Parts: sequence; C-alpha cells; structure tokens
Amino acid sequence: MKTHTEYLTFRTRKKREYINITGQVAQALEHSGIHEGMALVSAMHITAGVWVNDAEDGLIEDINEWLEKLAPFRDDYRHHRTGESNGDAHLKSLLVHHEVIVPITAGKLDFGPWQQIYYAEFDGQRAKRVVIKIMGE
Ligand code: ZN
Repeated sequence: MKTHTEYLTFRTRKKREYINITGQVAQALEHSGIHEGMALVSAMHITAGVWVNDAEDGLIEDINEWLEKLAPFRDDYRHHRTGESNGDAHLKSLLVHHEVIVPITAGKLDFGPWQQIYYAEFDGQRAKRVVIKIMGE
C-alpha cells in the first residue's frame, strides 16, 4: 500500500467562508499516482469543517442560514470565559464534522454526479490547514 500526504492552507478574507476544494483534492490524487484506495480530507482545526455536497449557491446559503439557526453567534457562550469569541464556530464545526473519506476508483475520485468537497471556515482571517491523506495502490 502506498500513501501520499498533502496540506492545503487557507487564509479567508471573511470569518466564515465555504470553499469548493474538489479540484485541489483531485490534483493531490494525481500527484499520488494511486489508482485504487481512499482519500481522507480533514480540517486540522476545531472551528472548521469538511463536507461533501452539491456546489449550488442557493444551497450554500441555505446551509449557512441553517447553521446560524442551530449554532448562532452569541456573546454569552461559556467558552468565551477563556477570552475567545468563537463559541459558535466550534458548534458549527461539530454540526458539519471535520473530515470526509472519498473512494478512489480507476485513478479518479469516485463521486456521484453532484458530489463536491467543501472546506467550511467558521473562524477565518488566519492561516488554517486541511490535510489530504491518500491511501491505496
Ligand atoms: Zn475557541
């Protein structure tokens, strides 16, 4: 079995951003030379997420609104006693999870027709990383 590891770094302009990283993961897969296996794509932070879903602008807005409803920005989170102000970002990260595993078949990400990989930044404006770990042969 071979493994291949790459890191992506994001420094978003806004606190919250949703970035389609499917192309970057496909590129890492090309670099790996792996044809059969799996790719793990994992945010290396506790205030970010990675998901697979549709790359449709309306849906992205719906997800953003849904996350704000479930885990709204507030001043009175207990976490803020530490001096931080990103309690909502931690909760949003838990809701979408921090990683996905994508099957690799015949040298390609084996996706259904609408599946795309997103990096979700919930507390940006600083350098944050995603690890891509590809395993297979
Ligand atoms: Zn925090």
